[in-house]
Amino acid sequence: MTQSGDLFQAAQKIIPGGVNSPVRAFKGVGGTPIFFKKGEGAYITDEDDKRYIDYVGSWGPMILGHAHPRVIQSVEEQLKAGLGFGAPTAIETTMAQKVCDIIPSIDMVRMVSSGTEATMSAIRLARGYTNRDKIVKFEGCYHGHSDSLLVKAGSGALTLGVPNSPGVPASVAEHTITLTYNDIESVKQAFAEVGDQVAAIIVEPVAGNMNCIPPVPGFLEGLREVCDQYGTVLIFDEVMTGFRTALAGAQSVYNITPDLTTLGKVIGGGMPVGAFGGKREIMEYIAPTGPVYQAGTLSGNPLAMRAGLTMLEEISKPSFFEGLAEHTKQLTDGLLERAKAANIPFSVSRVGGMFGLFFTEEDNVTTFQQVTKCNVERFQKFYHGMLEQGVYLAPSAYEAGFVSAAHGHKEIQATLDAAEKVFATL
Ligand code: PLP
Repeated sequence: MTQSGDLFQAAQKIIPGGVNSPVRAFKGVGGTPIFFKKGEGAYITDEDDKRYIDYVGSWGPMILGHAHPRVIQSVEEQLKAGLGFGAPTAIETTMAQKVCDIIPSIDMVRMVSSGTEATMSAIRLARGYTNRDKIVKFEGCYHGHSDSLLVKAGSGALTLGVPNSPGVPASVAEHTITLTYNDIESVKQAFAEVGDQVAAIIVEPVAGNMNCIPPVPGFLEGLREVCDQYGTVLIFDEVMTGFRTALAGAQSVYNITPDLTTLGKVIGGGMPVGAFGGKREIMEYIAPTGPVYQAGTLSGNPLAMRAGLTMLEEISKPSFFEGLAEHTKQLTDGLLERAKAANIPFSVSRVGGMFGLFFTEEDNVTTFQQVTKCNVERFQKFYHGMLEQGVYLAPSAYEAGFVSAAHGHKEIQATLDAAEKVFATL
């Protein structure tokens, strides 16, 4: 038995499923989850002292690699001054200014402690602002686990085969209209019927919870037009894509201005942080300036702000995203080449520092339906082969992968060498 095996057995006795977030349980790939004790740069080390090249990056935040010296130092400095006060601190304004400077569509921003809180609060704000109840989301997009948004959600829910969670009252779910990602006609049709009742469209501008699906030309543009026509708030959920697909997120890649943006992952530098922000007129609707209530004991926590701010400073440096995108391209091009050489039907996607791998005959995967037709058994075999070779990928066929600035030529090459061996066994 491995240390991970022992630890998992012990954990299962007192933590449901042995994990604090379902996808970690390896249900999507089978086998025993790996327990980790340390991370450094592109590498993580498990409890059995095996080292892996890591493409999960704590599910996105670790865009500088693990334990980046400047992030660690800034947290250490703050530690000595106290862990939090539940009162305003100067660093919160510095952080807010930095976010507004980086993302032009954000005039004002509110910090929270997770992506789930960010999207949940943005939805409440949009409902309060428009005085409407219905929201539109897209099948396979995940926006955290608040009731309104846990309808036909992707990733964890998809992995477990529970697209609609018990516990979400039908009377709540009925206000969520779920449409087809990358199908603007379905949106126009729905809005022709009920558009004047829809408070918000929430969308992942690059879908990262049904593998990695970039928007087709015209989709995001169409959402903007529909929202303008019907007075609906357009929310880009950039919890994953923000500071990841480009410094200013997917909205800068595709040049579309949302009304509200939700953020998470990278913005916390690895600490629990989320944020939502956007147009001043809408943001002023939130308490205490406005009537829509939202709050948080640990919101704007100074330790988390220090880590996040240092992270944002580092990724704002010139050429950071060019380097990240180039390494991501080397990885996906190299994987494609090796899969072709091994005669494995395979395709890839990538935007900035995020990527998708698809075991499919189709060259271009743009829909949720196509994703669900990919060969999951082959992915699972590939997954365990790569794990054995010392490459840690997300343990689900429905998750995007993440490259960090610490993934250099050496790590990419080692990953491609490993993949070549594993493709040969499929
Ligand atoms: N929105 C998106 C696009 C996400 O990918 C996630 C998490 O993966 C969330 C929201 C929820 O964030 P959190 O897990 O921090 O609550």
